[in-house]
Amino acid sequence: MKYFTVGPVEMDQETLKVAAKQLPYFRNGAFSKIMFENERLLKESVNANNAKVVFLTGSGTAGMDAVVSQTLINQKVLIINGGTFGQRFVDLCEFYDIDYDEIKVKLEEDLTLKHFENYDLATYDSLLINMHETSCGKLYDMEMVSKLCKKYHINLIVDAISAYLCDDIDFDNWEISCLIMSSHKALGLEPGLAMIVLSDEYIHKYINGTNKVNYYLDLKAHLQNMERGQTPFTPAIGVCLQLNEKLKRIDPKEQIAKTAKLAEYFRSHFSLKPLSYKYSNALTPLYFPNGGAKKVNEYLLKNQICVNPCGGDLSDKMLRISHMGALKKEDYDNLISKLNEVML
Ligand SMILES: *Cc1c(COP(=O)(O)O)cnc(C)c1O
Repeated sequence: MKYFTVGPVEMDQETLKVAAKQLPYFRNGAFSKIMFENERLLKESVNANNAKVVFLTGSGTAGMDAVVSQTLINQKVLIINGGTFGQRFVDLCEFYDIDYDEIKVKLEEDLTLKHFENYDLATYDSLLINMHETSCGKLYDMEMVSKLCKKYHINLIVDAISAYLCDDIDFDNWEISCLIMSSHKALGLEPGLAMIVLSDEYIHKYINGTNKVNYYLDLKAHLQNMERGQTPFTPAIGVCLQLNEKLKRIDPKEQIAKTAKLAEYFRSHFSLKPLSYKYSNALTPLYFPNGGAKKVNEYLLKNQICVNPCGGDLSDKMLRISHMGALKKEDYDNLISKLNEVML
């Protein structure tokens, strides 16, 4: 089976090799050294200088959960909700009784300044956004959002889980407060790690250990442990090692360029009317306004090709073709020929 999915993705041979090894004991200097290196390389890859990284054991949602439950409790927040993952921030804020408003972004529109017109931005402490709304492949204009946040002194909290290593991220220049990433999207590792880059300023202001809501994902405890390159509990050791091998091997800028090139290749060789919003390099949505996505998906699966279906209202109207992971041009040639067979 060839996976054009958004996570797990096709894994590199090098990653699979690391995954096959016996795990080492981890409460020692050798493992701390690896975690410090992971922290440094992650920060470098998103241009974060005055920041710390915490490594949580869980999928990406654990990172979102930790930030919402432990840092937003006394804040008023604004959520950009343009799909499943925007809704996840809304659900988390509902769950933890956070004071929030949401801006709904419709499927066929980009987020623009106009969406903010009816909101008194000076009243918000933080803005929550999924840089790439993976449910439809939409990439938000982070320069615009960052400018707004600077102007109104709003903390910028970014879920970059599916944008990391696909689209450029500039932690320092965008003045991001929290940046959430995870192991099994473009990093192409096994699921199990959520990484959060936290600005020193945000840590100082909001993570002081007084808000005791979550024992296992306690950010204060994770920060304290990372001072010696450790985690409070047994981490996903294997994924930490896969992360280390990958970050040392790749150049983040080259990885983004490679993903952009593959996306461009697929989009220019398979003709389907594009949707009207800006796409992330991470994936291309195929839109079937009159239905038929399920039939196409079944045909592809019979041909050993697994693309990403959608949920809810879009289940028969959209398929998503990932450009993350160890995919090559030839893989897209094969996919395109199979798509043409079933759609023409
Ligand atoms: C994948 C993803 C998540 C996390 O989902 P998990 O199922 O917890 O891995 C969160 N936000 C975005 C934008 C994602 O693409």
